[in-house]
Amino acid sequence: MNTIYLDNNATTRVAPEVVEAMLPYFNEYYGNPSSMHGFGGKVAAAIDRARSSVAALLNATTAEILFTSGGTESDNAAILGTLKAYPHKKHIVTTRVEHPAVLNLAKQLENSGYRVTFLSVTREGMLDLDELRASLADDTAIVSIMFANNETGTVFPIEEIGAVCRENGVVFHCDAVQAVGKIPIDMEKSSIDLLSLSGHKFHAPKGVGALYIRRGTRFRPFVIGGHQEKNRRGGTENVPSVVGLGMAAQLASSNIERENSVVRKHRDMLHDGIMKRLPDTILNGHPEHRLPNTVNLSFEYVEGEAILLTLNEYGICASSGSACTSGSLEPSHVLRAMGVPFTAAHGSIRYSLSRYNTAEDINTAIEVTAKSVERLRSISPFSANR
Ligand code: PLP
Repeated sequence: MNTIYLDNNATTRVAPEVVEAMLPYFNEYYGNPSSMHGFGGKVAAAIDRARSSVAALLNATTAEILFTSGGTESDNAAILGTLKAYPHKKHIVTTRVEHPAVLNLAKQLENSGYRVTFLSVTREGMLDLDELRASLADDTAIVSIMFANNETGTVFPIEEIGAVCRENGVVFHCDAVQAVGKIPIDMEKSSIDLLSLSGHKFHAPKGVGALYIRRGTRFRPFVIGGHQEKNRRGGTENVPSVVGLGMAAQLASSNIERENSVVRKHRDMLHDGIMKRLPDTILNGHPEHRLPNTVNLSFEYVEGEAILLTLNEYGICASSGSACTSGSLEPSHVLRAMGVPFTAAHGSIRYSLSRYNTAEDINTAIEVTAKSVERLRSISPFSANR
């Protein structure tokens, strides 16, 4: 049975070109990039090339790119590195729909004495800029707001948010882990000060990422150690993965527009196909301001977990909007913040596509989803179909 992988917001397949680029850096060019000898120098040059590729993807300069161990570290480094740089500022602004890498850090900081404002979102997952403006105070150290939501794909009005931060002289960090490689980002035109990205969301390996730090932004290192990354992040670089990240960035730079249109076409095909087959299905997320690869749907009267099990039987990988924690099915914090009714949140499925999906994959996913939901509804005590 073939795997039909529609869970690309969780992680992606490493591109074959990326694997190929990485291989020599395991056992051929294995020197330490900090070594003085030429053998190490070749490795340092490979890191420089990868940095140029990541900078090019973002239209940034190489000095603004710091390699990290992934999205979570980049988010932690951005927030904690800014708080250290502004020790007298004790207020943080973020949203209720952030990834746990930001949300749980913010909650922990709240417990240790910071004031944190968690901005709300609308039913379509959108922010209210007036609420953001009203939240800012003289001692706001940082605003940390994601580019695109991992569960719904909703894309926030990032440049408007950045403009509000600039007007108020507050550092703006953006978790762009789900956006980089999927939609074009131009840091020269942007008002984002710090931006997080993660390799495994756009066909590089897991455990590598980067933090963009705009020139002139005050920042203190989060990982303390040696002189690597110009004293901004200690630790010997994960060279093969950094090289892989560079190649993934190159692939994204050259293919983003073409891939976007194919991925979006498949995504819309999936959405329309399911909507046509299944009444009482609701889109979670913004209908227009959304990542081209993501569709999150709620199927009334059924459990998302039960749909996932059927999809799994056919080799289809997707995600549900609830997590089985301590024996009870808790709807996701994102859907709850959007005010999605309890029953709909329980029956939600996120499909997230990539360049590797075919039209045939999509047709199979429509067919299997429709059959599964129809069967589950026929036995559901809540269903009107009974
Ligand atoms: N931020 C967002 C929006 C994400 O979707 C993820 C991963 O799912 C992360 C941060 C964490 O990235 P990583 O898995 O590289 O630590």
